Amino acid sequence: MNNNMNTSLFVACQQCDALYDKPQLKQGQLAKCNRCGSTLVERKVDSIERSFHWSLAGLILMLPAILLPIMGVTLAGQFHQASLFDCILVLIDRGFFMIACLVFLFAIAVPIVRLSGALYICYCFKFNRLKPSLLSFFRAYHHLDHWAMLNVFMLGIVVSMYKLLDDTELSINLGLLAFILWLICSTMSAAALDQDSIWDKLERAFPRSCDNEHC
Ligand SMILES: [Zn+2]
Repeated sequence: MNNNMNTSLFVACQQCDALYDKPQLKQGQLAKCNRCGSTLVERKVDSIERSFHWSLAGLILMLPAILLPIMGVTLAGQFHQASLFDCILVLIDRGFFMIACLVFLFAIAVPIVRLSGALYICYCFKFNRLKPSLLSFFRAYHHLDHWAMLNVFMLGIVVSMYKLLDDTELSINLGLLAFILWLICSTMSAAALDQDSIWDKLERAFPRSCDNEHC
């Protein structure tokens, strides 16, 4: 921020807006607001390492989650299986282009970009490959947080549309298990990432470049 006050020295409570001097914490420690008791800052243990592995596992699970059947459908006495990718093709085939695009974007593309982003950030910190472009990259990653759980909503839409279109009996399948595990990895990857600590490290590494508003 372009003012005289160094904002990295202060921290505001997200619940009640109380302002504090930023505490220096060690891994595993957290600071709480004196006024409302909510967590101000938390230093997560092995943040980079854990997020790196969750992201990697998530990206590996991505293929079975998209390509394996997420449900079995009994239609006119015949049983056939459909993956998430098949469901998108069915939606396009039935003329639901907008819904197909939204499902592809929020159930597949955004989670992949988010996991890849987390993996890249962790890779840079893990192997000490820091560069100024990481500031913009991490800011973009931070914005993707708002779309984090939309893939669950989109999967619900896919299942509902499929059932409404064909009036079929559904059964849960292996792809859904992979999708749920993929979701868990995606959530854990974001939860393990200590964003405040990363901003601090980036600010120390590139002090002049960090005049931007990053939160
Ligand atoms: Zn508070």
